[in-house]
Amino acid sequence: MSLNHSDYVKDIVFAFKKLPGIGERSARRLAFYILSQNESVAYNLADAIKNAKQNIKLCKNCFNLSSDEMCPICNNLSRNHKQLCIVENPEIIYVFEKSGNYNGYYHVLHGLINPLEGITPSDIRLRELAVRVETGSFEEIILALNPNSNGEATSIYIQKILSPYNVRISVLARGIPIGSDLEYVDKDTLSEAINYRKKFD
Ligand SMILES: [Zn+2]
Repeated sequence: MSLNHSDYVKDIVFAFKKLPGIGERSARRLAFYILSQNESVAYNLADAIKNAKQNIKLCKNCFNLSSDEMCPICNNLSRNHKQLCIVENPEIIYVFEKSGNYNGYYHVLHGLINPLEGITPSDIRLRELAVRVETGSFEEIILALNPNSNGEATSIYIQKILSPYNVRISVLARGIPIGSDLEYVDKDTLSEAINYRKKFD
């Protein structure tokens, strides 16, 4: 028996609902919108996602998205070798780079410690962070994690694992409202938060 049209629609709705912030209604609206458009709209979207997934991997050094072994930031030797900024995901690097106010390197954790969801320190890139700090020339570690309980728990854990090393640990200034997502902070607010960062304690 072949699928009828509503089964095809359901498949698209189901796929969209897996995305963050997309509920049933939004998923349905997107699905019907795409189906109402010219074929090229749907195919361009599908191709763009597929091409990106096939060609983008993680930088082996910082775990940013990259089309090569190492991302362009890690490959850029003229950046500040003394600063390492810790972020939850690659999207935040994108926001930082747009702010144009940071010239050090990054380390992407790919998650935060989250006891409720069973995400432990070994599930995110913390071991790799310790290795980089041990073998690198960093003097300042900037914690740029979201100001929520998971960000806080992760920051405290990082402070603990980096305590054997001679590095200063700072956090972004609290221009950023508690509970808000760094991904959505505008670049001026982020620039201020970097400029007025303070010692983590
Ligand atoms: Zn990198």
